[in-house]
Amino acid sequence: MEKILAVYNSRFSNLHEIKISPLSRAYTFSDSVYEVIPFYNFELIAFDKHISRLRNSCNALNLVLDFKKTTKEILQLISESNLKNGYVYYQVSRGVDAIRSHIFNDNLSIETFGYVVEHVFKSQKLKVMLCEDLRWKRCDIKSTSLLGNVMSMNNAKKKACDEVIMHKENILTEGGASNLFFTDDKTVFTPSISTNILPGITRELLINEIKDAGIQVIEDEFNINDLKNAESIWLTSSTKGVAQVSDVFDLEVSLIEDHPLYLRCNKIFNEKFLGGC
Ligand code: PMP
Repeated sequence: MEKILAVYNSRFSNLHEIKISPLSRAYTFSDSVYEVIPFYNFELIAFDKHISRLRNSCNALNLVLDFKKTTKEILQLISESNLKNGYVYYQVSRGVDAIRSHIFNDNLSIETFGYVVEHVFKSQKLKVMLCEDLRWKRCDIKSTSLLGNVMSMNNAKKKACDEVIMHKENILTEGGASNLFFTDDKTVFTPSISTNILPGITRELLINEIKDAGIQVIEDEFNINDLKNAESIWLTSSTKGVAQVSDVFDLEVSLIEDHPLYLRCNKIFNEKFLGGC
């Protein structure tokens, strides 16, 4: 089995050697939050923003994490891995119960788990499927409770799609594991931040960079009809970067492949964060 450097409750080892209790609340209740933190050319991308989002997720669930220790562990994973490009997955759970119980015991010890893997950051073209957003009302918390996303993305896979675009009763929310952008010929549109979407770090970085370059970005509420009129659609995430959508299954939309506005924004993002790759 491939060796993957990991850390569980501050102990470093091979990922496949870690044993956890089935009474971990991450296992029984998804009572846990996580981050995916990318690094490129040995440099972390927007590390402070990822830590700050992890802090928000922990605060929302009253998880008291030692952020100094977590930061140290993430940096150690990367340095010991010797990987040039990749990401760290880091998960924080409330801890291990004595017996499964919805109401947790106040003196549980926080359980942490992370690993580092190689990742190739490359431009992708995604086929996506439109679907109803099945999720709860706190999608702004980066919780490991992702069954709505998992069900939708696996249904999409059956239609040979790579991702989904979700909507709540016609109002567009986000991708299954990404944020949504679309454009007309000169303006970039994206659903505003709300408790219905994850405040993506890539989303924020991209918006800041392209606004600085003079491109108009409108953050608002959008619906499926708005998407039908799009000239280009993109999905953003820490591992996908800015990925253009080539086709939307079950939606009539005339997308322009390699749309000039997409190419411009993608270039701005890649030059700033991914060495222009
Ligand atoms: N929305 C969801 C549901 C996600 O899972 C992700 C990826 N973690 C994103 C958006 C994109 O967030 P980020 O750019 O911080 O990776």
